[in-house]
Amino acid sequence: MRVVVSGGSGFLGSHLCEALLRRGDSVRCLDDFSSGRASNIAHLMHEPGFECTTCDVTDRFRVSGPVDAVVHLASPASPFDYARRPLETLAAGSRGTENLLRLAAEHHARFVLASTSEVYGDPTEHPQDEEYWGNVNPIGPRSVYDESKRFAEALTMAYRRSRDADTGIARIFNTYGPRMRAHDGRVVSTFVRQALDKEPLTVFGDGGQTRSLCYVDDLIRGLLALLDTSLPGPYNLGNSEERTVRELAELVLRLTGSAGPLRFLPLPVDDPTRRRPALARAREELGWRPRVPLEEGLRRTVAWFATQPATSVHPPERPVTQPAATSGDGGRGPLPS
Ligand code: NAD
Ligand code: UDP
Repeated sequence: MRVVVSGGSGFLGSHLCEALLRRGDSVRCLDDFSSGRASNIAHLMHEPGFECTTCDVTDRFRVSGPVDAVVHLASPASPFDYARRPLETLAAGSRGTENLLRLAAEHHARFVLASTSEVYGDPTEHPQDEEYWGNVNPIGPRSVYDESKRFAEALTMAYRRSRDADTGIARIFNTYGPRMRAHDGRVVSTFVRQALDKEPLTVFGDGGQTRSLCYVDDLIRGLLALLDTSLPGPYNLGNSEERTVRELAELVLRLTGSAGPLRFLPLPVDDPTRRRPALARAREELGWRPRVPLEEGLRRTVAWFATQPATSVHPPERPVTQPAATSGDGGRGPLPS
């Protein structure tokens, strides 16, 4: 197959491009490098089946030659990134999704949307299965991401229903691994970098909120499984091993041998309290399940970060936080400057 991957120089995109090439597909990567990095795909640039074009998928762009499949990953993805680039985030989910759906439809190609567990918002059902409609604040600071992905899902289903497009939706839960940006503000990259740099680990709120973390190799297998069907989904792709953020911090400290204290900071506005994917549908219909346990995945991630050059440049801006009075930091930590 010749597969167009938007966002192919990013964290997940670069792993997907690599996996596609490894199994014999050719890849056309489209990326504006807003959060992707040339170093993520440098090792692919000499592969005969790999091409990369710098472009913004919310603008006009052209893809010449055959297209058998399109995977749309291009979007600001970490809470820090989408807080900094709210309008670009809405555009990536709306105009970007439509441009890539149109491309797929023109070529009668399979289209896979990288959606997110954020469509469930701060869920009132636990674990979250695909039938759950979610609990999203439509005007909160996270809404630019949540609603853009919800709109992208609606658009994808509209193309399927009205244009007979061959579409699939993956709802990706928190995924981690090599090639995350050290300063993307996400919890695993932040904790691992802080622990390796012997800095305090910044726990937001009291650290009692939960996430269920999936290792990148598992996630990519799930995306490929979905790509290779004609099934619409949506499918939750993630790992159901649920941990509090505080437990995660303690695990990272243990794996890195760091004694760094925990530094409690205010909880970002609308930060989901609990998150865990129900995976029965993906297991039964895609024959997919995650394999890498959290501790093993974190070991691999720590080993990769340890090989990276010093990272303490351009610390990210902090996300919008709760007012101090409702910050949930229990008065234990300093407020941000
Ligand atoms: P990332 O920031 O590493 O990758 C996003 C890529 O998209 C980057 O290479 C960036 O440069 C590119 N991009 C952004 N806007 C673009 C535009 N307008 N035109 C062209 N390229 C553009 O993030 P990631 O973690 O690899 O996420 C990839 C996708 O998976 C995103 O759509 C994200 O919403 C989704 N997702 C990721 C996770 C996760 O835990 N990593 C969870 C849920 C959903
Ligand atoms: N988090 C944290 N410290 C950090 C970064 C994140 O405590 O330095 C928390 C964040 O508040 C959230 C969880 O870790 O509860 C996961 O955050 P992330 O940004 O990785 O992803 P999210 O699931 O919020 O999109």
